[in-house]
Amino acid sequence: MYATVKLNEGRDKSLKRHHPWVFSKAVARVEGNAAAGDLVKVTDNIGNFLAWGFYSPSSQIRVRALSFKENELPDEKFIRDLVRSSCKRRDALVERGNEGVRLVASEGDLLPGLIVDRYGKFIVLSVSSQAMEHCRQFVLDELFELYPECSFYERSDTKARKKEGLSDRCGVIKGEEPPEVIYVLEGGQIRIPVEIPHGHKTGAYLDQRQSRIYLSTICRGKNVLNCFSYTGGFGLWALKGGAKSVVNVDVSGPALDAARHGVVENHLDPGRCRFIRDDVFEYLRKKVNEGVKYDVVVLDPPKFAESAATLKRACRGYQDIARLGFSLLSEGGRLLTFSCSGIVDQALFQKITADAALEAGVTAQIRAALRQDCDHTVSLPCPESFYLKGLDVEVL
Ligand code: SAH
Repeated sequence: MYATVKLNEGRDKSLKRHHPWVFSKAVARVEGNAAAGDLVKVTDNIGNFLAWGFYSPSSQIRVRALSFKENELPDEKFIRDLVRSSCKRRDALVERGNEGVRLVASEGDLLPGLIVDRYGKFIVLSVSSQAMEHCRQFVLDELFELYPECSFYERSDTKARKKEGLSDRCGVIKGEEPPEVIYVLEGGQIRIPVEIPHGHKTGAYLDQRQSRIYLSTICRGKNVLNCFSYTGGFGLWALKGGAKSVVNVDVSGPALDAARHGVVENHLDPGRCRFIRDDVFEYLRKKVNEGVKYDVVVLDPPKFAESAATLKRACRGYQDIARLGFSLLSEGGRLLTFSCSGIVDQALFQKITADAALEAGVTAQIRAALRQDCDHTVSLPCPESFYLKGLDVEVL
């Protein structure tokens, strides 16, 4: 028998819309015994079925729902089917010359708390919910069947894991140990550095793939400043697109080393790029004071807003760097500005960017709205899964 999680009156709306999160405040009581990772039935206050999900007693998200049909239990077959169909949906992306693809994108692929990234012959798993901790072996068994030739590595070391009461788990699951840096083909043209064992996330930011490729189309003969460069993906595509010069700025020394090697690995001209280890806020201020100008400025910062409590400060941060970025652009220059904070939505981000332009005293127009690439699937009922948005803005 499964325990039943009964919701408070009036708190059934989001599950009825198939949003997968049940917050602790919505729970009236638990009937029966439920331990971390157990499958539970969720009902409304008078006992009507709403969803099947997995219980997480220490998290604010008390239950993550997986199935919204009473006769469809999220058992081994259910999970394996979801994993398989999610992986299959990436075939077209692989065929377009991408060796790095997100095979499973958590809520986006109806598997909340599960990330599976493929980097060529390495598959990296990142589990960050009690729900997926419970399903981990089913997931692996399906992946082993789908990709028998691949090696498997785990990077379950996210902040979310701590909130779920889970300790970190990293290391080889099966096959070869991945080298510190590997290179994976992107868009059939550029080989992107990926640091599986010790890099950010599972080793690379695959979500920016289409925006990196987009950048290469607007860079011919331009001087490009790539802020928060990490291992230099935007910089590599800028060089490929014929940029006259590229300056990569990041606080991380190892990331810049990988970026430097990436230029050589891609047979691009090292004489056209520089790698600066600095705080972006300070670097931008220095360049504004020096009166330096660029044709294209990329701003791809880390997540500034972790929660509603830090939203205001985060908005100020996005606005500050955008203002400085605008101030560095020559006439006709382009600012590519991004936010990966889920709680900063597109409308708010546009407003922040508009305010920054006002503060910088420039008039600007949007040339393109940018977003996370298609393998970072967005679930229709779960707007939080659309987290990465960006704007290409031209200064008139
Ligand atoms: N554009 C990259 C991903 C950027 S991730 C890509 O396409 O792969 C964000 C980066 O910002 C990280 O590499 C991190 O080291 C860097 N970072 C965070 N805070 C910073 C700061 N204040 N100044 C400079 N770099 C910073």
